[in-house]
Amino acid sequence: MRIVLLDRDGTVIKDPVDYRVKSEADIELFDDTITSLSTLAKHDFAVIFITNQVGIAEGLISEDDFWRIQFEVLRQIAPSGVKVVDTYMNGEDDENASEWRKPGPLMLLKAAEEHGFNIAEVYMIGDNDSDIEAANRAGCKGGVLVKTATNKEVICDSAVFSAETLTEAVKYIVENG
Ligand SMILES: [Mg+2]
Repeated sequence: MRIVLLDRDGTVIKDPVDYRVKSEADIELFDDTITSLSTLAKHDFAVIFITNQVGIAEGLISEDDFWRIQFEVLRQIAPSGVKVVDTYMNGEDDENASEWRKPGPLMLLKAAEEHGFNIAEVYMIGDNDSDIEAANRAGCKGGVLVKTATNKEVICDSAVFSAETLTEAVKYIVENG
């Protein structure tokens, strides 16, 4: 089984207009989320979520809230059949950010260490340049940008591929994995 590192908000679920997922009611999958994850599963890829949650630093949600919301995300994507190996979350804000917060590489490196895969052989998919920078700094095979961020056009020259949709991002990884 191979691994794909996945950002959550703006990548697998839609980001709300304020970019803070604060409750289960804010969870909305993209139209192609299930089919994309299903394609990964069919090609023997499992996923690990790597997510920044600034809402924790801002006091909008607690860590418990985050895990409850994440549990619901996992429930909603379960029909895809994809195996979710783990979730790494950082609740810092930019001002106090350590290297654990993307674009820092430490969540990705910890995932590789804890789950015994070679970081140089995996891709990370995300909708922000911070996802791509984290992938590059961690030494991933590449960061795949998915241009599904809410209300903003993200351009990132250091992405190995820029996809319009998660479907396209997954196709790239299946073909180049
Ligand atoms: Mg995101």
